[in-house]
Amino acid sequence: MNGFCSRDTILRNLTYTDAICGRMKYGVVVHGGSGSPSELSDGPERAAAAGSALLQRGSSAVECVTECVSIMEDDSRFNAGTGSVLRFDGIAYMDAAVMSSSGECGAVAHITSIRNPVRLAREVMKTPHVLLVCDGAIELARSLGFQEYDVSTDRGRERLKREIDDFSKGKRPEWPKNWKTYSVDTVGSVAMDALGNFAAANSTGGTFPALKGRVGDVPMIGCGIYAGRKGAVAATGIGEEIIRKVLSKTVYDMMEHGMHPQEAVEAGISLYDRSVSVGLIAISREGIGVASTRQMAHGKIIAD
Ligand code: ASP
Repeated sequence: MNGFCSRDTILRNLTYTDAICGRMKYGVVVHGGSGSPSELSDGPERAAAAGSALLQRGSSAVECVTECVSIMEDDSRFNAGTGSVLRFDGIAYMDAAVMSSSGECGAVAHITSIRNPVRLAREVMKTPHVLLVCDGAIELARSLGFQEYDVSTDRGRERLKREIDDFSKGKRPEWPKNWKTYSVDTVGSVAMDALGNFAAANSTGGTFPALKGRVGDVPMIGCGIYAGRKGAVAATGIGEEIIRKVLSKTVYDMMEHGMHPQEAVEAGISLYDRSVSVGLIAISREGIGVASTRQMAHGKIIAD
């Protein structure tokens, strides 16, 4: 123990009343994507526990969310890093971003062959730029020692084969009708460290199906993630819908105007028709918030 807290409270199935009482010393929330079954919650719970251990040792919120998202990227059950969905050409194109409450941010889009895109996004944060894409991002990665890595899995290849079979049999609605039912399940994390700094990070293999070159909300600051002096927010779900409402910044603004994170994420979700797959996690000094229109595996740890 470093004296920052007397105990860690692991909050499963946190209710609004639980969340609203009291201020936190530090905290972390991790999600496995809108649509991810709650039976997979052991993944984000394990990531949150690792993030909390870092915070307890005095690590920053940025270090915490980067580690949490990295752990989720290595968990092949989720659509990020290893296990990312494969596009029609059999390749996974991944996006990731990180942002801190001091306004620093870094993101990568449409990248391939990297084990942990979120760690590369964190490196972009150290450059004068905010977003690097495709070959340029990969060149930076290789120059920093990121090894070539194949993120595809047997499950991903079987899934792609099934999807292509379904398409060829006309089982899918004529593209691009009905975006709302398409596959998602990005990973993300928000955290507050013991100094009261916030951070958010996310990572995805994107949606399926998608046109070549498609990039969603994840690397767009203010859409997939946002962090500021009052808290941090991460969104998941249909990226195009999230972008149109600049969702993470919209929810952040609600917290800045005094809303508790749980109220703010519920207000964010209420901007959508229930048929749209969308989920949100948020954190402020007042507590945390989790809401989604689908099941959303998640884990959270608060030190009070
Ligand atoms: N928002 C991600 C995207 O559209 C997908 C997700 O959250 O699952 O790329």
